[in-house]
Amino acid sequence: MSDYYLTELHAHTKHSDGHFTTAELLAKAQAFGYEILAITDHNTSAALRDCQKLAATTKLVILPGMEWTTFYGHLLVWGAREFVDWRPVTPATIDAALRQLKAVGGITACAHPYAVGSPLCTGCRWDFPVHDQQLLDFVEVWNGAAPDQSRRSQQAYQLWLTRLAAGQRVAASAGRDWHDDEPATKNTALLYLGCQERTTSNALRNLAQGNFYLSLGPRLTLALTQNGQTYEMGATLATGPALVQLTFQATAQAKMRQFGFAAQRVRIFQNETVSCDIPWPPDTPLELPVLLKVGYLRVELWGTARGQTQQQLLVLANPFYVR
Ligand SMILES: [Zn+2]
Ligand SMILES: [Zn+2]
Repeated sequence: MSDYYLTELHAHTKHSDGHFTTAELLAKAQAFGYEILAITDHNTSAALRDCQKLAATTKLVILPGMEWTTFYGHLLVWGAREFVDWRPVTPATIDAALRQLKAVGGITACAHPYAVGSPLCTGCRWDFPVHDQQLLDFVEVWNGAAPDQSRRSQQAYQLWLTRLAAGQRVAASAGRDWHDDEPATKNTALLYLGCQERTTSNALRNLAQGNFYLSLGPRLTLALTQNGQTYEMGATLATGPALVQLTFQATAQAKMRQFGFAAQRVRIFQNETVSCDIPWPPDTPLELPVLLKVGYLRVELWGTARGQTQQQLLVLANPFYVR
């Protein structure tokens, strides 16, 4: 079984347009409580060399990463064992480039797909016409500070659901897109990555599987059991009876406590049909029987924030697939 580690997948240093040196970023990440960090500078992985030199000074597990920054969109890449040249990539060759990345272990996400594009930020919006969408592993549904207050997050979430509805395996990811110290008044989306052991290779394997969830604060443990076997997010199960095992814990990350995220309802979706919608039972482990159908099952936690009465999404767990 996995433990879930606080992970940041999208961060920049002075090697591109970030304000921190690599050493400063590592120190800030550790102070925030991250346990796993990917540095994704624009079109360079130079920070990885710094990380090798700084290895003795940090407890963080570092994942190799880069943000391909092109005229047609930003592509987050993690874990590529070899350099793949982003410079000649065009709309006509994006599928071939993604296949090349896959062949060297690359895991990919379209970053901030609904960012403002030209003329304000040419290339920031995702405009690549990918023909085989299955070549993209994640949609970055939450990007930047306070992503739950951004309309772009809603659009990215809808894009993710559209791809799931089309029968694709695709995870939802979050990226702080960390360049600088954000205002203290803005919350940060958290990503908890499941790992059986806290190593780079194990973290990458679980990332590729989609064994992670996004949260504005609360933590969860989530597994499905079927025929005596336990499955984690991203796993593939058979149709038929299964048991959802779920626990939630209050917000652990220090900065996020001030935003007052109060969990209220647990929703289980099968292929976007709500199959269960129940009040959140604090500190009580849930065991819910389900009848799995072909497609996917996923879990959301809803509640209130910032003293408002309107409920919003607080935790988004990635799908289990049923084939
Ligand atoms: Zn970007
Ligand atoms: Zn970025």
